[in-house]
Amino acid sequence: MRFHSTRSRTHVVDLPQALFAGLAPDGGLYYPDSEPDLRELILRVPEELSYDRLAGELVHAIFPDLFDCDTALEVCRRAFPFAPRLRSLTEQIYLLELFHGPSCAFKDFGASFLAAVMGHFLAGENRRAVILTATSGDTGSAVAQAFHGRPGIDVVILYPSGRVSPLQEKQLTTVGDNVTALEVSGSFDDCQRMVKAAFVDAELTGRVPLTSANSINIGRLIPQSFYYVDAFIRLRSAVASDIVFCVPSGNFGNLTAGVFAWRWGLPVSGFLAATNVNDVVPRYLVSGAFRPQPSRATVANAMDVGDPSNFERMLEIFGADHQDMHAMIGAEVVSDEDILRTMGRVHRTSGIFLDPHTAAGVCAAERYLAGEGASDATVITLATAHPAKFAEVVERATGARPDLPPRLAEAMDRPKQAVRIEPQADALSRYLIEHHGEEARR
Ligand SMILES: *Cc1c(COP(=O)(O)O)cnc(C)c1O
Repeated sequence: MRFHSTRSRTHVVDLPQALFAGLAPDGGLYYPDSEPDLRELILRVPEELSYDRLAGELVHAIFPDLFDCDTALEVCRRAFPFAPRLRSLTEQIYLLELFHGPSCAFKDFGASFLAAVMGHFLAGENRRAVILTATSGDTGSAVAQAFHGRPGIDVVILYPSGRVSPLQEKQLTTVGDNVTALEVSGSFDDCQRMVKAAFVDAELTGRVPLTSANSINIGRLIPQSFYYVDAFIRLRSAVASDIVFCVPSGNFGNLTAGVFAWRWGLPVSGFLAATNVNDVVPRYLVSGAFRPQPSRATVANAMDVGDPSNFERMLEIFGADHQDMHAMIGAEVVSDEDILRTMGRVHRTSGIFLDPHTAAGVCAAERYLAGEGASDATVITLATAHPAKFAEVVERATGARPDLPPRLAEAMDRPKQAVRIEPQADALSRYLIEHHGEEARR
């Protein structure tokens, strides 16, 4: 598989080029230039195959020229020391828990794969890379954990001082080794502006091998299609009905990855996008008009996105045909009240804590099953974060607090290590040259 830009089909690159560039030079997003046929593989692999092995088979099938079987398996062993877990919530609703990785959210799957694959290519070429990223909280911790200890890679993460939760700050600042947290005396927008300025600063990029790991990187998207395949394989013999995936969505990366899996041969009947009140995609599905909006704050804040970046890829999948897209993807818009009510009810009836993003998904799945013609379907709802990451909202909805998983509790006990920096681009460029420039390495 190679990749073209969503804005120009003639600009085609291979996987390493797409990974290290992040964005295409014309500002478009990288998009698969061909579609592998995975049907035979999906029907052949045994149900009990471990996740890293399944991922290895998929990587080899998708990129046979870049990864032979053994190399693909080795990269996936390094990427996935954790796995998804499937549990049933009701007779017709399953939860696909994607929060058993190091940062306790689904973004671990994409970030960890990207890190393992980048490490693989860098080792082959004897190069090094400095990952530079700004975070408002969650993405940064997934990236920090994913790249921690990878040879040839340093990570620099900017976060806004005092504007991330105490738990998020601990997750960012206690990793150490090759991961540095820069605490910016400013807002998240300042952090983003500084990072953007760094990437276009020719003097700086000539001296520091900067690269990005942000969520539009195709190297984070491709591996997110693997857990859809995994869930299907595990349910294939137990479930006779249609299977629908319900995906709590913000930037629509997770949903796009699921639709890729379907295009490549996963036999599912459809997808259901669950959004909070930031509803530009649900509106598009109904009306055919895409109108980005300023984002609105909700209790499911990782989905507060008013201009989803992966929409460009969704359009490309369906040849910009709005009817075709709507035939495969339904949508439900879930208010804060419904999110909190769902969290409360599920906890009361089953004892299960849901984080607010997953609760939006469960509410959407319930509405879908209550609707016309869908009554037989099995809905696999992606559980995108551990409830303990959103303990305040969980407590508000249920009156109880979920236990911190050990890896989060350990982070809370470790001392914070961060470098304070002013919210100015030249402060960042000085820091990078001094600590990560070619001269600093000698
Ligand atoms: C990022 C995130 C989402 C949204 O995922 P997209 O791929 O941006 O649609 C949902 N839930 C949680 C917990 C997240 O961190």
